[in-house]
Amino acid sequence: MLRRDLFGISIHALSMGQAVEHLLCRVREAEFSCRYVVTPNVDHAVLLQSHGGLRDAYRDAELVLADGHPLVWVSRLLGRPLPERVAGSDLVPSLFSAIPPNESLRIFLLGAAPGVAQRAAENISRQWTNVQTVGIDSPPIGFEKNPAENERILAQIALAKPDVLILGLGAPKQECWIHQHRDRVIAKTALCVGATIDFLAGEKKRAPLWMQHSGLEWAYRMSSEPKRLAKRYAKDAWIFPQLVWQQWLNQRNPSRQASP
Ligand code: UDP
Repeated sequence: MLRRDLFGISIHALSMGQAVEHLLCRVREAEFSCRYVVTPNVDHAVLLQSHGGLRDAYRDAELVLADGHPLVWVSRLLGRPLPERVAGSDLVPSLFSAIPPNESLRIFLLGAAPGVAQRAAENISRQWTNVQTVGIDSPPIGFEKNPAENERILAQIALAKPDVLILGLGAPKQECWIHQHRDRVIAKTALCVGATIDFLAGEKKRAPLWMQHSGLEWAYRMSSEPKRLAKRYAKDAWIFPQLVWQQWLNQRNPSRQASP
């Protein structure tokens, strides 16, 4: 599969349709050897520069799909074009819709606040009758550092044996968690998709389509969670242009390696 290297991330040059086809093949396999999918955006690109754990998780992911329009635009500007945005929050419903009526898909929802995944499961079963939620867990804050909690979650997943584990724990927690536990996760694939469970539950609203298409989804999300996101986006707005500039310089002179 064609990949584009940008800012230390090797991103697959796949369209939404191609990514869904790939996942359909994966979930039709008999084997439960969990691979996983990550969906980088500008924030991940910035975070990854200083977070070795996230870098490792990205390196071992089966699919790396560009979640944000800015990454796609910059890829074209730098002559390493990605075909289109493949946002995690669009990938999940697209995969559900691609399951033929004579097949079924078993999913496990891990993440979001208590009660939210339950509502998401109800909405999913109403909209996609052949998608079955076989497990739900909303682990408490800090669970990832608690070995007993991790064992409990791994046992629950092993019992449910889902085709797809949907991880909505936020970045970099979801990527680091699946990277650390991938050998013991009994699922065919895991999707690291941030707030997707919230969106499926109707707990959070996606930005209007015109904002999604014009690369302004971040602005919508910031206006709905200013306290949590303003500082993060300010940092991204400062660092990301430096990453683009460096990438451009490195491409012109590959022997040069600078850091931000
Ligand atoms: N979340 C969680 N457990 C945690 C931390 C976060 O379940 O320990 C959930 C949170 O409830 C929300 C999602 O992770 O549903 C955050 O998704 P978002 O894409 O907003 O995260 P980001 O990667 O932007 O921080």
